[in-house]
Formats: sequence, C-alpha cells, structure tokens
Amino acid sequence: MPGYDVKFTGPLDKAFECPICLIALRDPVQITPCGHRMCSTCLQPILRNKRPRCPLDNLNFDPVKVFSDNGCHRQILNLQVMCTNLEKGCEWTGPLSDKERHQDICNFAEVSCPKRCGASLERRRVTDHSLECVNRLTPCSHCGHQVIFNHMSLHLQTCVSFPVSCPANCGVTNLTKEKLAVHINTECPLLEVPCKFVEAGCVYKAERYKMKDHLSTSTESHLNALCDLVYSQKKQLEIREKGFSFKRNTFNFKKKRCYCKNRSL
Ligand SMILES: [Zn+2]
Ligand SMILES: [Zn+2]
Ligand SMILES: [Zn+2]
Ligand SMILES: [Zn+2]
Ligand SMILES: [Zn+2]
Ligand SMILES: [Zn+2]
Ligand SMILES: [Zn+2]
Repeated sequence: MPGYDVKFTGPLDKAFECPICLIALRDPVQITPCGHRMCSTCLQPILRNKRPRCPLDNLNFDPVKVFSDNGCHRQILNLQVMCTNLEKGCEWTGPLSDKERHQDICNFAEVSCPKRCGASLERRRVTDHSLECVNRLTPCSHCGHQVIFNHMSLHLQTCVSFPVSCPANCGVTNLTKEKLAVHINTECPLLEVPCKFVEAGCVYKAERYKMKDHLSTSTESHLNALCDLVYSQKKQLEIREKGFSFKRNTFNFKKKRCYCKNRSL
C-alpha cells in the first residue's frame, strides 16, 4: 500500500510527503547517504534496478543501507486527520492512528443492512431502516407468528388462521382452515351429500339443506328399504347358522365313528 490518502486538519509538512505517491508516507524508509524518505512499498520498484537511484536527486544508493524510519512514522501517525465521511457530515478529528478505529463506529460510514436485505446505508440510518427493511420480522395479523415481511404472502398461503370463504359459496366467510373442514363435513347447507339411508340402498344425493325434505317425503321407501335390508341380513344369518350346525353334526358323526372304531379294536 502506498501512502495515507487522508485529509489532515492542517497542511502536510513536505518532510512527511512521499516523493513517489505524493501523499503522506506510510512505513517510511530512509535511503543513505542522501537521507530522503519514501513509503516502503513505493521503494520496491526502484530496488528492482541493478543500480538504484534516489528519485529526488538521482544519486545512486546502496540497497543494503535502507532503514525503516520509525520515528518519522510515529510523527505521521500522531498528525490530526479528519474523518473520511467529512462531506457526509461527520465532524470527527483525531490522530491518524485512531482513524481506522473511528471508521468502525462512524455514524456516517456506509454499512450493509445487518438483516442482509442487500441495502447499503449510513450507520446512523440502520435503526430507522430496520423498521422498514423487507427482511424485518412482523407478526402475522391472523395467527400472530413472527414472519419475515418479504415472506408474508407466502406465509398467508399456509397460515392456519387465514380467513377463507366456503368454497361451495354458501355465504359463510371468515372461516379458518381448521373450521372450514368442520363446516364442510357437518354444516355447509350447499354441499352435496348422500342420503343417510345409502347403506339400505337409497341412492339419493343432494345439497345438505334438501335432505330434511327428502327424509320426510321418503319415509315409506326408506322403511321398505330398511325392511328389505333386515330381511336379507336375517336370511344370511340363517344360512350361516345352518352351515354351522351342519359342521357340528359332521363333527358329532366323526366322533361316533371314532368311538365305533375304538370299540372294534
Ligand atoms: Zn509513497
Ligand atoms: Zn535522495
Ligand atoms: Zn466519521
Ligand atoms: Zn434491510
Ligand atoms: Zn399467519
Ligand atoms: Zn358452506
Ligand atoms: Zn334417501
């Protein structure tokens, strides 16, 4: 890195200016015998020459006799500088050595949104921004869960408390997903349901609200159907009973035969 590209509170002493990068010396080195200084990084290309020369006086110098000028560096680090964000309004001034530390807390420094929405903003605006950031957490107005603002429409598609209207258009609205299932299974008057005598053979199907009429007008046919059902079930029972007693008789018969066999032995 070449010299310090910073604004000093006063004019920079020529003695602290690098003759190559023309800004304040960083890690200055002194060459001998002329005693001129430059940034250690700025010196490197010169050292690649077989016979290096000082850029100020064009005199040859011995690469082995180049020294770090720590005293000079300390003086430069103590010079008062202004904040990089002076134009944005930061009025901080302090020694060059503290500038990096100030940048980390400077209210006017550009930072990216801590909620990673991609916005870049001055540090002093972070609090205000977090109230409107698309990645802020906000409670769902239906279920109360904390949801990332940007994901709200996705959440509403699965929110168990999101109000829905009955899909059969019976006029009932404001049902939660759980209540909708109950409504469809037991309440909705417009939903088509089978007659409760379906097991007895009634094939009538209609909206739930029509069932009451159907039940009162079809009492006779429902009773007949039930009667038929009971009769056929009774028949089936009898057939089963007969089969059972037949088996029982054969069993007794076999037992008798065994007894006879035993006797003949
Ligand atoms: Zn330099
Ligand atoms: Zn020189
Ligand atoms: Zn600042
Ligand atoms: Zn943000
Ligand atoms: Zn919700
Ligand atoms: Zn309904
Ligand atoms: Zn029926």
